[in-house]
Amino acid sequence: MPMSSFAMALHGGAGARRSRDYTHEIRHMAGLVEAGRDRLARGDTALDVCIATVVALEVSGLYIAGRGASPNAAGVYELDASLMDGATGQAGAVAALEGFESPILAARAVMTHTPHVLLAGDGAAGFARRHGLAEIGDPAAWFTPAGKDESNHPPGALAHGTVGCVVRDSDGRLAAATSTGGVFNKLPGRVGDTPIIGAGTFADRHAAVSCTGQGEYFMRNTAAAQVALRMRLAGQSLADATAAVLAEIAALKGDGGMIAIDADGHVATPFVSEGMKRAVLERDGTLTSAAF
Ligand code: ASP
Repeated sequence: MPMSSFAMALHGGAGARRSRDYTHEIRHMAGLVEAGRDRLARGDTALDVCIATVVALEVSGLYIAGRGASPNAAGVYELDASLMDGATGQAGAVAALEGFESPILAARAVMTHTPHVLLAGDGAAGFARRHGLAEIGDPAAWFTPAGKDESNHPPGALAHGTVGCVVRDSDGRLAAATSTGGVFNKLPGRVGDTPIIGAGTFADRHAAVSCTGQGEYFMRNTAAAQVALRMRLAGQSLADATAAVLAEIAALKGDGGMIAIDADGHVATPFVSEGMKRAVLERDGTLTSAAF
């Protein structure tokens, strides 16, 4: 197969359990990577492909993000999302956002229309409304059961899920985007790693990274930025940098994984959880989609 100059990966969260059947999600993720491949072949930017992919993951209702998100302990759906363009260093994010179909589009609007990086809560919702972003209407009619099924978890384990995407486009630009409903039964107002640039999402000219897992550990490790910094300052490869960061998280007894891509289009998808739903398009055209 001829080498192309682009590559990408997406994830549907590190909350995968061996007791569950992910056939449908694996097929869905493969389809999204195929759609991303077509966009990249047409010359779309890494950022645009990340956003389109995460929107599709959010509105599918299959993952613990967007329409499939889990409610907090008060029964309210507070969603987090962020994105970063490695080519420009620009970033946008929303935290504890209520009432909108696609948190990642709100994150993009923060990046594009404000001097800020992160808007939270009511301020984020008012901003999204002023920018005409689609609202969900009645939460009971909008959200799918995906986020509630995860309640079948063993006591003590914080069930969670997230979606994300990393891309290297044909001009060598890198981008990352991540969106989540957070951890199941979280306290109202809890914000995890996903909307924190450098923790759950990061992109520069060396690497683009989207994390999934129990976010508190990824925040304490500045996990996503640490991958890029290990590469930039310590000369580590993408594979070594991602493995080292996840080893630190595992040593703290955290769980999760990450998808990452470097300037040459190498992809890494390591995880230290039971599974991680993911799909990858390599530069040689190889497409894989798996949960374990
Ligand atoms: N990292 C997300 C959070 O802690 C959850 C996940 O990735 O599964 O909010």
